[in-house]
Amino acid sequence: MIIDARQLPADFRLEADIAIIGAGPAGITLAHELMGSGLTVLLLEAGGKSPETTRLDSYHGDVLDLGRHPPISLYRVRGLGGTSTRWGGRCIPFDPIDLEARPHIRYSGWPLDYDELKPWYGRAMAYCEAGPFRFRAAEALGTSCDPMVPNLAGDDVAADALERFSPPTDFGKRYRRAFARSNEVALVLSANCTGLTMAPNGQGVEGLNFASDPDHRFTVKATRYVLAAGALETARLMLAAKAGNDLVGRFYMCHIEGKAAVAHFKPGTKVAFQYERDSDGIYVRRHFSIPAEIQRKRALTNVIMRFEPPVIADPCHGDPVLSAMWLSRTFLKPEYERKMASFGYRGTEAGGRRTLIAHHVRNVALGAPSLARFGMDWTFRHVLAARKLPYVAVRGKNGAFTLDYNAEQVPNPHSRVTLGGENDGYGLPRLVVDWRACAQDIDSIVAAHALLAEQLEASGNGTLEVDESAIREGYNATGGHHIGTARMAGDAGSGVVDRHCRVFGVDNLFVTGSAVFATSSYANPTLTLVALAARLAEHLRTTAETAIPEVAGMVEAAE
Ligand SMILES: Cc1cc2nc3c(=O)[nH]c(=O)nc-3n(C[C@H](O)[C@H](O)[C@H](O)COP(=O)(O)OP(=O)(O)OC[C@H]3O[C@@H](n4cnc5c(N)ncnc54)[C@H](O)[C@@H]3O)c2cc1C
Repeated sequence: MIIDARQLPADFRLEADIAIIGAGPAGITLAHELMGSGLTVLLLEAGGKSPETTRLDSYHGDVLDLGRHPPISLYRVRGLGGTSTRWGGRCIPFDPIDLEARPHIRYSGWPLDYDELKPWYGRAMAYCEAGPFRFRAAEALGTSCDPMVPNLAGDDVAADALERFSPPTDFGKRYRRAFARSNEVALVLSANCTGLTMAPNGQGVEGLNFASDPDHRFTVKATRYVLAAGALETARLMLAAKAGNDLVGRFYMCHIEGKAAVAHFKPGTKVAFQYERDSDGIYVRRHFSIPAEIQRKRALTNVIMRFEPPVIADPCHGDPVLSAMWLSRTFLKPEYERKMASFGYRGTEAGGRRTLIAHHVRNVALGAPSLARFGMDWTFRHVLAARKLPYVAVRGKNGAFTLDYNAEQVPNPHSRVTLGGENDGYGLPRLVVDWRACAQDIDSIVAAHALLAEQLEASGNGTLEVDESAIREGYNATGGHHIGTARMAGDAGSGVVDRHCRVFGVDNLFVTGSAVFATSSYANPTLTLVALAARLAEHLRTTAETAIPEVAGMVEAAE
């Protein structure tokens, strides 16, 4: 059943076995997995059926380093499906080493073995519609597929890993009908959680407060509560309610991304830089990675590098498609320019912005025929296709290939989110984000590039030109990857939730989403957070003490 909370009488009370706050990929997966469990579930979403990205007053907050971390009103979406209404669909599992306690990474180690997580990736692949769990080129593309680059000798860098792409699945659209049909799970829209009511001893949640607008409020009572509101809002709600220990909001991580290298290959060298399709028609993409034993030996974090289009903002690439993208996005989104700057491009020294625009316009004019061809192709393969070509793949001038990097960030208790002094329109304090990267993060990225440079050179086919200062000065927190604010640990002294995602010291409160990641890996978070949500569903199912027949009955009884 789907309810819009604005249609409920004011001061109404909803009841269920389990109340889940937030209907993004994490909340939707959890609620969906609980169908058929005999438990009644309320899936409570602040937004409506359509995504809201503007006028999100309650998402505004302070970011202390806006040069590196985007404003938190961006890269988050309110509404059914959460940020999956905007995501790129890149699906990558964590590597086993990501969950290990690594002596060279302080605070590393999950209270969960990779073998316990792995089976849940199967469910996650199905939810994300990303095909079979095949993340090696030979498994996905066949043993006779061409290598990413020929003759890459040595063991320091691997070139056989790949990323798979979801169509991308909009979790709201994809799973909405299942909720509409369900009598056990009620999806409640326009249900903005404004606070948790804690038991006087702080060891349990007694209820939740909601508002569909500042004058229309209602409450929810459940046996168990799950926060699935994204790592920022989850921490915000916990901090405001003083739920959990003093590690809530600490260890805040994003991935670190940037562009700092260009590969040059000998003419005729065959390089797999395009998006490819596996036998099921699913898009995949190769990347360079550092094998686990090399990470351990050289005390590195987990870093990958992959071919990406040249820095779009720099018109010297001469590509009409990239120039057209830059022109349209720059005028539409000032944030885009900030991000481009953080990708190492600082603009032209002479002439400034006008010269830059003129240069891009020239690229577009000179390349008009190829831009038109690209436009047709993009319309069919991206705009109209059910399974979309994820992004453009363009090589640079003279056979050069730009690489970007995605890197793990080491857990750091001083990188954190806290509450500020100002409240939003619902009376909830706004967040202050103090995101910090440390020398180890950046040194690992530099070292990974050096390893790739050595190995490429040894191949005899190419060289890698690395701009170390672009790494040291131009790194950037990935927008939309918010991680670690309620980290999982073996004990309350090291984290916020236990291995079953239950908040230490609060018997009936759970967290799901990337907030619980103890370390970040380099891998985009969604596949793993969906796997963890499916795992949590099993835990909630198998530990249920009560079961109330149907949520429909509960709502009617309350009326
Ligand atoms: C542009 C972009 C591209 C991305 N690309 C990728 C990618 O390629 N691969 C990948 O793995 N990840 C990607 N991501 C990240 C991905 O979108 C997130 O990891 C994922 O959406 C997180 O799911 P979630 O359910 O934890 O949180 P969200 O999707 O943020 O959903 C949280 C939900 O909770 C609701 N909520 C928040 N507060 C409250 C409240 N107080 N009361 C009630 N409801 C509340 C919100 O409205 C929202 O619907 C991308 C993100 C962005 C912005």
